[in-house]
This record gives sequence, structure tokens and C-alpha cells, in this order.
Amino acid sequence: DAKKRAGNALSFFTVDQEEETKRKLSIANHLSHALQKNEFDVHVQPKVDLQSGKIFSFEALARWSSPELGQVPPDVFIQAAENSGKIRTLDQITLVKVLEWLQKRKKLGKQLLPVAINISTDHFFHPYFVADLRKAVKDYDIEAKYLRIEITESIGMVDFELAKTIFEQLKLAGFESSIDDFGMGFSSLSYLQQLPVSEIKIDRSFISNIDSGGTLAIVRTIVQLATNLNMESIAEGIETADQLSILSAIGCKRGQGFYFYKPMPFDEMDKILDKQEQ
Ligand code: C2E
Ligand code: MG
Ligand code: MG
Ligand code: MG
Repeated sequence: DAKKRAGNALSFFTVDQEEETKRKLSIANHLSHALQKNEFDVHVQPKVDLQSGKIFSFEALARWSSPELGQVPPDVFIQAAENSGKIRTLDQITLVKVLEWLQKRKKLGKQLLPVAINISTDHFFHPYFVADLRKAVKDYDIEAKYLRIEITESIGMVDFELAKTIFEQLKLAGFESSIDDFGMGFSSLSYLQQLPVSEIKIDRSFISNIDSGGTLAIVRTIVQLATNLNMESIAEGIETADQLSILSAIGCKRGQGFYFYKPMPFDEMDKILDKQEQ
């Protein structure tokens, strides 16, 4: 998936294995520089109420525009950061940019909506993770409820008991959490039931096939599961009106995808929010 998307943007992602390896090394080499030189940016993508189309929160997504490499796809640089022990630094950059945005809106007296940041497994399990988050929101004078956390479903397979403890600490500190890419990680019902998370994000792969009927039963089951567990479900990657109407018909209330909005810079988002507020 990452390679396919990357291939559309940069031709050298599609070449053979050897080139691929060189490319990865090159990315890893550029990464530490890039982190110091502020080459990263954050885009936000709205999460919307499917019935009204109204924005109720956002997901923050890191972007890397490298002078040497061009626009590097997130799946590629996130993996490189994870493999080279730099993911906390990268997540921290995203976090700070999100908090700066929230703080700016707050000072202007604008409406605040929650923003979710993605956290990689190693970072999630870092002993200071929750403490760092608490300090960060305090430093920026932002209430914890405006910052949310997205963690992939597979987290529970690394260390379920520890993951559960961290989710509980997050909740106690006022941060809501979402399970990201749900449906890909084969988690059991009892696993999910024990986690104090508020939102299940249904993986995009299920949504893209929903109109051909292939994954309708799966998506319906996840939506019902979420309802039964008192959680919200949200469909990722809605691209067509057909997908939207099917999702609405099976009781899915929230969504995210290019059909509504693509991820965009903060200032573009501000303009859209100004219109929505009226
Ligand atoms: P994710 O958390 O599952 O984010 C959703 C991805 O789906 C984003 O890809 C988003 O641009 C894309 N997307 C949203 N709507 C649509 C749609 O309608 N169609 C299609 N085809 N795609 C859609 P993106 O921005 O390339 O990010 C990829 C992954 O990189 C994210 O997956 C997330 O796991 C990770 N990531 C991004 N930023 C950060 C970060 O700051 N820290 C960490 N740890 N991971 C990050
Ligand atoms: Mg996410
Ligand atoms: Mg996702
Ligand atoms: Mg993903």
C-alpha cells in the first residue's frame, strides 16, 4: 500500500530491491538532519458527522518535504523513524505543531475542536509517554480533552496488560484514545472490551470495498460491536457518495476521507472552520 502510493509520487519507489534498499538508507540518513532542520510539517484532516457533514474533530498527519528527496510519503518516513529510534522526536514535532495551532485559535477566541495525533508503538510504550503529554498540554495551556491519541490495533499484541495500563493512564489524564486501522489486527472481542478507548477507526481497506459488497458484513459487524461496547465507530477513507450512503444505511455515524476533506495545512483549515462556525 505504501509502496503503491509512493510509486505514484516518486518514480524511484517502484524500482528493484537494490535501489529500494539504497533509498531506505538515504531516507534514514536524511531523517536526522531533517528533524533538526525543521523540514516537517503537519496537515489536519477533519472527522465529520456523516449525517450533517459537520466537522467534530481532526486527525493530525505529519508531512516531510525534503529539499533533496522531495515529498516523502508518511508510511515511508514513519517506518524509517521507527527503525532508527527517532519516532518520539517526530511525534513530538507533530504534537507541538498541533498544540501551537490550538493555542493560536484559543487566543483568537475561535472554537476549539479535538485533534488526534498518531503515536507509534515504541513511543506509546515509552515510560514517559503519558507524563510528556500531560506536561505538553499544560505548557500550552490547552485542556487535555482537545488532544486525542490514535494507536493501531496491533498494540495489544505487543503487551496487552501494559497497553491497557497506558490507556487507563491516558483516560485518567483526560486524553481520549482511538484504535486505528481496526479490523486488520485480528483482535479478540475480550481484548477490545477491556480497553478504555472511545473510538474505533474502521480501516480504509474495508471501506474501499464496501460498495462492491465484499466487506459490507464486516463493517456492519464492527459498527454494531462499537455500539455494544459504548464506543464510537468511524469509517476511514470514504471516497465516494456510494460508500457514504451505504455507511449511513448500516448506522455508521462518523467518517473521514477525501470525499469530505483531504488533509490540509492549518491555515486552510482555519478558513473552513470560520465558515462552519457561522
Ligand atoms: P493513519 O493514521 O491510518 O492515517 C490515515 C491515512 O489515510 C493518512 O495517510 C491519510 O492521508 C489517508 N487518507 C485519509 N482519507 C483518505 C481517503 O479518502 N483515501 C485515501 N486513499 N487515503 C486517505 P498518510 O497521511 O499518508 O499517513 C500514513 C500513516 O502515517 C498514518 O496512517 C499514520 O499511521 C502515520 N502517521 C502520520 N503522521 C504521523 C505522526 O505524526 N506520527 C506517527 N507515529 N505516525 C504518523
Ligand atoms: Mg491515524
Ligand atoms: Mg488509520
Ligand atoms: Mg494507517
